[in-house]
Amino acid sequence: MDISVKTKILGLFGDPVAHSLSPAMHNAAFRVAGLNYVYLPFHVKREQLASAIAGITALGIEGINVTIPHKEAVIPYLQQLTVEARLIGAVNTIVRQGQTLVGHNTDGKGFLRALQAEAHFNIKNKNIVLVGAGGAARAVAISAAMNGANRVNIINRSKEKAQKIVDTIRQHTACRAQVWELATCPWQDILQEAHLLVHTTPIGMYPQEQSLPPIPVELLHPGLMVCDLIYNPVHTQLLKKAKEAGCPTMSGLGMLVFQGAEAFTLWTGQKAPIAEMYRTVISALQTNYGLTVPARLR
Ligand code: NAP
Repeated sequence: MDISVKTKILGLFGDPVAHSLSPAMHNAAFRVAGLNYVYLPFHVKREQLASAIAGITALGIEGINVTIPHKEAVIPYLQQLTVEARLIGAVNTIVRQGQTLVGHNTDGKGFLRALQAEAHFNIKNKNIVLVGAGGAARAVAISAAMNGANRVNIINRSKEKAQKIVDTIRQHTACRAQVWELATCPWQDILQEAHLLVHTTPIGMYPQEQSLPPIPVELLHPGLMVCDLIYNPVHTQLLKKAKEAGCPTMSGLGMLVFQGAEAFTLWTGQKAPIAEMYRTVISALQTNYGLTVPARLR
């Protein structure tokens, strides 16, 4: 793609940003969609965040993805927030509408779209169990509750963050929600009535890919869809055990692609080229980490 006076600029604010797959994924998407956009990584330190955000409007940047550690810190600088971003309390996508910066969160929606696309799994009326209660869990739990999940159980090592997610769900949605401490939770009862288990801690992520999270895998049953938000490796130890137990499984790759696809559409108004986005992310992971990828995703 030739850079010209008409080229529209998008990008990513984070610290660090060098490892991010988003520039490759979005630039490939713009190329196949024939759109004159370019997506750049911007390494923004905490103390430069305010001026970086002022730069979006000053320079006419169309939109920005936001990653660690700025997803919460950007909120006070934005003029509008979607309901989902407000309830999640974090923004991963900024859209500039003239002089107005609008904050969105596409992480949870991306996860739900990936579930639908990869596994034909619809969240409506389902019972969900999340293990972990960090930023990713918060986005998935709140989006699931807003989209009609029947019950969300959150199992976490410590109670405070999980309790905050549950409070938000109870206050703003019709979904039932409960917190459990990892050390004392009644796994058997919880997993028996669950349709979906989502592992959201970093246990099992590269370079500790041999680690298994504290989930009693002997209780997994074929009626349970098991997801790991980790995408490197694509086959985590947890997903291998889940497959052995006869469960349908999904890695974090789909969430990564579909949160990007949602942002792509918010910025361009067009449908995202999903297959190309998958291809680019997989190829970058293979090049950078020698990753092996399940045949159905290749
Ligand atoms: P985070 O905010 O740091 O939260 C991590 C959570 O894991 C916390 O609830 C923490 O418990 C728990 N945890 C960490 N180490 C643990 C251990 N040894 N034992 C038990 N619990 C432990 O992280 P995050 O941003 O939510 O990310 C979590 C994972 O999701 C990472 O693997 C990340 O790569 C992945 N992710 C994937 C996508 C995607 O697009 N696929 C997007 C975002 C994140 P405490 O609350 O007790 O500290």
